[in-house]
Amino acid sequence: MTTHRREDRQQPQQKMQRLEPENEIVIVGGGICGLATALALHRKGINSLVLEKSEILRASGAAIGILDNGWRALEQLGVADRLRQTAIPVQGAREIWLDKKAKEISAEWSGENRCLRRSDLVNALADALPPDAIRFGCQVVFVELHPSTSYPILHLQDGNTIMAKLVIGCDGARSAVSNFLNLKPTGVFGLLTTRGMTYYPIGHPFSHEFVQTYKNNVVVGRVPIGEKLVHWLITQQGSPKGENISKNPEYVKQLTLHAINSFPEEIIQMVECSDLESLSFARLRYRAPWELLTGNFRKGTVTVAGDAMHVMGHFLGQGGSAGLEDAIVLARCLSQKLSFIDPITDENGKVMHNIEAAIDQYLKERKMRVARLSTQSFLIGLLWQSSSMVVKFVIVILMVVLFNNIALHTKYDCGKL
Ligand SMILES: Cc1cc2nc3c(=O)[nH]c(=O)nc-3n(C[C@H](O)[C@H](O)[C@H](O)COP(=O)(O)OP(=O)(O)OC[C@H]3O[C@@H](n4cnc5c(N)ncnc54)[C@H](O)[C@@H]3O)c2cc1C
Repeated sequence: MTTHRREDRQQPQQKMQRLEPENEIVIVGGGICGLATALALHRKGINSLVLEKSEILRASGAAIGILDNGWRALEQLGVADRLRQTAIPVQGAREIWLDKKAKEISAEWSGENRCLRRSDLVNALADALPPDAIRFGCQVVFVELHPSTSYPILHLQDGNTIMAKLVIGCDGARSAVSNFLNLKPTGVFGLLTTRGMTYYPIGHPFSHEFVQTYKNNVVVGRVPIGEKLVHWLITQQGSPKGENISKNPEYVKQLTLHAINSFPEEIIQMVECSDLESLSFARLRYRAPWELLTGNFRKGTVTVAGDAMHVMGHFLGQGGSAGLEDAIVLARCLSQKLSFIDPITDENGKVMHNIEAAIDQYLKERKMRVARLSTQSFLIGLLWQSSSMVVKFVIVILMVVLFNNIALHTKYDCGKL
């Protein structure tokens, strides 16, 4: 496994830096979406620079389910084959209710579905980039437009600034770039999720399925990554104070064990034997679907992608894959609009004008797709967090009307790069 450290990469400069034309696209955030966007641009022959606030690549959240649509995007990025070697196919899903009206439903999945270690995914994306593509330890604090040229200026934590022609904010649910776009802060569900991985030295006994077990308003999800490694995530109703405990994995584990103390022994054992380093704790966030449809996601040549644009609950397993799709569509739009302009001569400021047109095209292609995903995910979040039977009933009706085929979201094809 490759670990990308700050010293492997470019160091921050000490003064205002006008990037050379080949580095005029700056991506804020080196998570799944930022790295995928840089790679998609690289595959189209367009250079970019990723600014990541951490000192190394972050892979918090242990593992991530990638459904059929996500694999189509990974194919376009050229990393699908490498990633297939790291995880087994997941063939179906099962839902088990252990409350009074115990029941079980199972379904076979079509297409390709695997659960990847997040470290495998981000390393595969980063390894395919040129060596100086990521600048670590570089936190963007705020963005403004240059008063005369309208070029975006990024103000960094260390006091330096970087000017670029295009800024793509892939800086997650609490994005500094989305603040610049005047987007509303993301909303929070009354739900908390613990995630982790458990290694079974002589192999686990579980089928190649994604199993969700429900009891007492707690949902335990479990999916195998390999024959000896399992990813799990446990969602429970919770208060806002909960987020502060994330820095203490032993405490996270104890709280989680407490929430599942009436679950079957194999589930309790799975959490008890989990790798402490893999544990993470998150309060689930969302950008409301109506904001996705009405919000303005471009100001000048600044835009957002991934969670910075459309953070959603994990209920569909689509947030990360939607970010991969964003990367493909944005890179395609940019390469179409910029391919016939010489950025060095740039007569009549055509580059800036065409970047704006490319962003508009990208947003046009993405808005309906992410609004639909967000709506479906938002409704499931409301269903899980609500204790009112009336509210639950209304949500179920809405789901049946709007999302008759609940797995249709996996059939989406973001197209060629
Ligand atoms: C419990 C849970 C389970 C999930 N399960 C799945 C799943 O199975 N499948 C799926 O597809 N999705 C899943 N998701 C969603 C998925 O994790 C996210 O959609 C995805 O990680 C978003 O990637 P991103 O790159 O947009 O943002 P992030 O992963 O948040 O990355 C943002 C990056 O930007 C950096 N950064 C932030 N601010 C700055 C700044 N100011 N300057 C510089 N750098 C900055 C951060 O350090 C980080 O590296 C799940 C989410 C949760 C909460």
